[in-house]
Amino acid sequence: MIVVENLEGKLLIGGVLVAAEAPSIEVTNPATGEVVGTTGAATPREIEAAVAAAHAAFGSWADLPAKARSRHLHKLADVIASDADAMARLMTLEQGKPVNEARGEILKLAETCHFYAEEAVRIHGETIPNDSNDFESTVVREPIGVVGAITPWNYPAELVGWKLCGALAAGCTIVIKPAEITPFTALAIGAKCIEAGIPSGVVNVITGPGSVVGQALVEHAGIDKIAFTGSSKVGLQIQRSATSVKRMTLELGGNCPMIVTEKADLDAAVAGATRRAFRNCGQICIAINRIYVARTVYDEFLDKLAQSADALRVADGIQDPAADLGPMASAEPLAKTRMHLEDAQSKGARLLAGGAAPIGADYVNGFFFRPTVLADCTHEMMIMTEETFGPIVGVAPFDGLAEAVGKSNDTPYGLASYVYSKDADEIRYLSRRLDYGNVAVNTVDAGIINAPYGGRKHSGVGYEHGREGMLEYMNFKHVRVRYDLPEGV
Ligand code: NDP
Repeated sequence: MIVVENLEGKLLIGGVLVAAEAPSIEVTNPATGEVVGTTGAATPREIEAAVAAAHAAFGSWADLPAKARSRHLHKLADVIASDADAMARLMTLEQGKPVNEARGEILKLAETCHFYAEEAVRIHGETIPNDSNDFESTVVREPIGVVGAITPWNYPAELVGWKLCGALAAGCTIVIKPAEITPFTALAIGAKCIEAGIPSGVVNVITGPGSVVGQALVEHAGIDKIAFTGSSKVGLQIQRSATSVKRMTLELGGNCPMIVTEKADLDAAVAGATRRAFRNCGQICIAINRIYVARTVYDEFLDKLAQSADALRVADGIQDPAADLGPMASAEPLAKTRMHLEDAQSKGARLLAGGAAPIGADYVNGFFFRPTVLADCTHEMMIMTEETFGPIVGVAPFDGLAEAVGKSNDTPYGLASYVYSKDADEIRYLSRRLDYGNVAVNTVDAGIINAPYGGRKHSGVGYEHGREGMLEYMNFKHVRVRYDLPEGV
């Protein structure tokens, strides 16, 4: 069973959990402020060692038959799933989400391992027609090499898993740099890789500040691809600062709209909005940040949404594993949530639910905030155009579908959007015009592991999930052969 104590002050380099040279970073429980444990700030020597280990392992991992790589990933899924309770508890301690939700995330990580285990054996090539039958072109797919994976804190297991599994299925090796505030989940996944018998050096985990350790991977000539999930600001910085040419996948921030038309099932829309605006305290790149509601059903929708938000239970996710919301992960997103709330209210938004931390002794030491609903929001307010990453949603009325689309597309982001309508013509009109990588209709579960997931505009480049999520770790090689007729034919 995985426990923090076995991971404290450790880095995973070359198949071994080694003691970090500088175990200097305290990880705190966002519900209580208590120190969960200490992790290392990887030194230049440790970063070099991790990249070197990944390089040393690359040739034999890439050469392994796809079926063998597949078996390793299936096994990894099994060892993760069989320890899901302990891994979930560990995640809650450092990230804050209630244990039941953390457990769901761990099981989805296991599902990701199984999915890419199956994709590993489907790395097909292509045969391309030439102008003459004397020539034949084949396109083969080869692993890129060593991947540097840099991940945020909001989904500390899944966001590592999408990169890890896609890369390993493709035949790449990997160095993972998790967020500074949630390193233990990534280290636990690394420990599970050892337990699953994945060869030494294929998976390495180094911890430490992003601006130092993450940036070192970006600038390292031995890293062939950066797979990054995080803010648009840091994504742009990474794109600008790479000092050697390398492939990049950037999964960045969002400011996701929801459109509720007159023909929507209003109760379903309210349930969807409640789930996707407030789950994980809104700390989801595909969280609903803003809702446009047909004016004819606006007041009814607002009443129901406010009631639904007020009914959510906020608690320490260790003490109350089935709570709806835990604390926010750190002081930073909480401060931004308060800032967006104040900005909106100063510009005329009406507060209908939440707006403050819950009251009581259980909440005083944590980063708690009640789910918050604001009405009559406009695009002059930050909440309608910038990512909040907190449990707050802005709502505004619209008078026609064209206006709803115009407002929905009126931000630099293009990650996910949501539509509630029971009318097929409306659904077609809206889904075709929303400039987003994902459009979810009458559901707020925008992503599934089998389908590509990626943002447009400032929300990123490249894809995770699906077959496409594995092809991002592959080079295409064109082999063109000239054949002559055999002699004597
Ligand atoms: P950040 O961009 O601040 O950090 C993401 C990761 O990058 C962390 O590991 C961080 O390390 C590291 N990092 C920071 N600076 C650098 C640098 N200069 N070079 C290399 N790495 C660096 O994002 P958050 O962790 O705050 O995560 C929230 C963001 O992630 C939101 O904007 C959210 O929308 C986005 N996100 C996008 C998703 C998508 O699929 N599109 C999914 C989930 C989240 P450290 O923690 O040590 O600073």
